[in-house]
Amino acid sequence: MKILKIAVIAGDGVGPEVISEGIKVLNKVASIDSTFQFDFTYFPWGCEFYSKHGKMMDDDGIEQLKEFDAIYLGAVGFPGVPDHISLWDLLLKIRKSFDQYVNIRPVTLLKGAKTALSDVKRENINMLFIRENSEGEYSGAGDWLFKGQDHEVVLQNSVFSRKGTERIIRYAFETAKREGRSLTSISKGNALNYSMVFWDQVFEEVSAEYPEVKTASYLVDAAAMLMIKDPKRFEVVVTSNLFGDILTDLGAAIAGGIGLAAGANINPERDYPSMFEPIHGSAPDIAGQGIANPLATIWSASQMLDFFGYEAYGKLVLEAIEQLLVDGQVLTPDMNGTASTSEVADKIIEIIESTV
Ligand code: ATP
Ligand code: MG
Repeated sequence: MKILKIAVIAGDGVGPEVISEGIKVLNKVASIDSTFQFDFTYFPWGCEFYSKHGKMMDDDGIEQLKEFDAIYLGAVGFPGVPDHISLWDLLLKIRKSFDQYVNIRPVTLLKGAKTALSDVKRENINMLFIRENSEGEYSGAGDWLFKGQDHEVVLQNSVFSRKGTERIIRYAFETAKREGRSLTSISKGNALNYSMVFWDQVFEEVSAEYPEVKTASYLVDAAAMLMIKDPKRFEVVVTSNLFGDILTDLGAAIAGGIGLAAGANINPERDYPSMFEPIHGSAPDIAGQGIANPLATIWSASQMLDFFGYEAYGKLVLEAIEQLLVDGQVLTPDMNGTASTSEVADKIIEIIESTV
């Protein structure tokens, strides 16, 4: 029997509430198949840890996480701890240390899910965003000169390396080729005259290796508009760290809302663990009430199953989410329902039981 070792960082706010439900679903799936089991190890890291220890995670935290097959993360960040600290000292530290340079965010409107667009065919919202996740605009490089003086200047540098740009674009081409779908690159070569000109050039170069993949290229401003006006243009999409961050939040709004949006941080070479998480934050405004929507976290569990090669189970979980949305009976308040977090997950488990 294969044992999949999962590091659980439930984190802050609603993080622990949704993660425990995702774990219930993963255990349910493992119970169907006698060839594998999950072994969960819990790490108490996050803002509460910070308030006691002055740091978001143990000093050797990265070392501790290294041996796991995957990381399952709830949400980190809470009022009282500056956002840039909770982000850089935990989430970005993990993403960078483990070279999780691919961020995969499905923007698919499931049957029964609500969309912010009124006049669009459901099947036309089916995009797969592949966001650069290790450098670009979020390189962290910059400077703060003449701080506090009249001629104060702040620099925030983007870093686009040949290696970093090529590998994300190649990963996107491989994905588009495998799925038999088109690939769209989103950049901004007219205004960002170094970084995005380079991005476009690399996209052209790699494109020559994949004659079978149909490609398109858009400026990010035009892409934002077209995602609303004509989303069916987009199938697999590759873009930079900042643009991907913004556009996938837009994607969440047109594909069921923040309570549904999931994201995977992948190290494709599998040298280090990959990380699976809902894209929403710790939602302090509803924390502790047991009403957070667990579906995004459950969808990220489905991504984890795909990643481990159990695509049939990934699909089973995703179809259970879709079934729950179509039934429309057991939903949390953010989806205009009255159910609790655990009632939603229990319903998912019930649907899974009735399908297998
Ligand atoms: P972060 O900076 O970590 O992204 P944030 O404060 O910007 O956090 P969220 O924590 O995602 O954003 O919260 C944004 C809004 O979405 C809040 O009103 C929150 O209640 C709601 N929200 C987020 N996640 C969920 C969820 N799982 N279920 C229901 N509502 C949620
Ligand atoms: Mg936010």
